[in-house]
Amino acid sequence: MRIADESLDRSWQEYANCLGVDPDLFFPERGASTREAKEVCRGCVVRDDCLEYALRNSEKFGIWGGMSERERRRIRRQRALDRQAAIEAVAEKSASA
Ligand code: SF4
Repeated sequence: MRIADESLDRSWQEYANCLGVDPDLFFPERGASTREAKEVCRGCVVRDDCLEYALRNSEKFGIWGGMSERERRRIRRQRALDRQAAIEAVAEKSASA
């Protein structure tokens, strides 16, 4: 079965390396180490799915896909710039055609 809105699909979580791990590890207090959580994520087979889920749903807190909110914000910003550049390239191309 295909889920209509992929941003809501959490089926990948069945294979998560963090199943059974204390969730607090992935939601550390501000300034606390994220090293242990990232270590769990490192060997996770659904790491990409987890990261995409967090990016699509603008998850503000915690470690997802081995990345902190700050690291995910950087990716979102880069993707927005890439999208803008692609739009401008198409506009330029159609203007010169
Ligand atoms: S990448 Fe990390 S947070 Fe995401 S499912 Fe895997 S172990 Fe859990």
